[in-house]
Amino acid sequence: MSKTKLEYIWLDGYTPTQSLRSKTLIANDFGGTVEDCPQWAFDGSSTEQAEGNDSDCLLKPVAIFPDPGRKNAFLVMAEVLNHDGTPHASNGRALIDDDDDDFWFAFEQEYTIWDPETNLPIGFPPTGFPAPQGPYYCSVGAGKAVGRPIVEEHLDQCLDAGINLEGINAEVMIGQWEFQVFAKSAKRAGDETWVARYLLERIAEDHDLAINWHCKPVHGDWNGSGMHANFSNSVMRTCGSEETFNSICEAFSERISEHIEAYGADNDQRLTGLHETQAIDKFSFAIADRGASIRIPVGTVHDGWCGRLEDRRPASNADPYRVAGIIVTTTKSAC
Ligand code: MG
Repeated sequence: MSKTKLEYIWLDGYTPTQSLRSKTLIANDFGGTVEDCPQWAFDGSSTEQAEGNDSDCLLKPVAIFPDPGRKNAFLVMAEVLNHDGTPHASNGRALIDDDDDDFWFAFEQEYTIWDPETNLPIGFPPTGFPAPQGPYYCSVGAGKAVGRPIVEEHLDQCLDAGINLEGINAEVMIGQWEFQVFAKSAKRAGDETWVARYLLERIAEDHDLAINWHCKPVHGDWNGSGMHANFSNSVMRTCGSEETFNSICEAFSERISEHIEAYGADNDQRLTGLHETQAIDKFSFAIADRGASIRIPVGTVHDGWCGRLEDRRPASNADPYRVAGIIVTTTKSAC
C-alpha cells in the first residue's frame, strides 16, 4: 500500500487579516486528483472560526498541487465550510461569482522578507537605516539585492508545483520582492496565489526568516507593498470599445468603499497619493498612469481597446479571493 502526504491548506478566521493554516493527512493508494481528496475537518475554536462547544469546521478540497518541498506529497487548497455544508463567513472563495471562468486574473504579489530577530526587513541594519531607495529595484549585487536564495527557491518550487508564475523581481525597498501569478479563472488565480504564499512562508522558515505581508511594513519614505490586480472578462478582451472600458471604470468609481473594504487592512498607510499610489479616498482611471486607482495599460489601447485593466489599490495583505470577488461583481454590473 502506498502512502501519500496531503497537506490541507486553509485560511483562518482572524480579522482583519487572515493567515494560512495547514495540516497533513496520510492517504493510502492516493489517486492524485482533487476528487480523490476526502473532505476533512479541523478545530475551528483554535482558529477564530467556531466556539469551543461547537468547534468542527469542514475542509472542502478545491485545488491540488504536487508538493515540491516534500517526498510523496501534495498541497491541497481547501475552502472552509460550516458543519452544515454552507460556506463559512471566512470563506471569500465561495463569494466569487465566476463559475464559467470567464474572468482572467493576474496578481502582482509584493512582500518583504523579514528578520524576526531585528523585527526589520532583511538588509536593514539593526539601528538606523540603509541607503535611501533607488538602487534596490530590479537590482543585482550584495548590499542591494538581499534574499535571493529564498526568492529563487520559491520560484523553482512554484514552477514545480504547477503554479503559473509569470515572473519575479526585486522591489523598491531593500528586502522587498514581487512575484506575479496569472490564471484564466478568478478562483484559480486565488488558489495559486495562496499556495504560492504558503510555499514562500515555508521556505523562509528554513532560513529562520519570516514573510511580512503588511502593506506598509516600514513607516517613512519606504515603498509599501501592493497586490495589483490585472483582470479581464471576455467582453473586455473582445469589445474594441473605449466606452465599455470607461463604463467599467465608472462602475468602480461608484463602489469605492466596498472595494477598499476588500483590498486589505491598513491600506490607508499605503494609498497616500505618494509612491505610485492614488489616495485611498479618491478614485481615478487613466491610460498608463501609475498614480491612478485603475490604470488602463497602453497595450489595451494599442490592441484597439481589447484587453485588461489594472486595479492598483489592493494591498499585499489582501485576500485575493475577496479582491477577485468584488472586481468580478462590479465588472459584471457594467458589462
Ligand atoms: Mg511591483
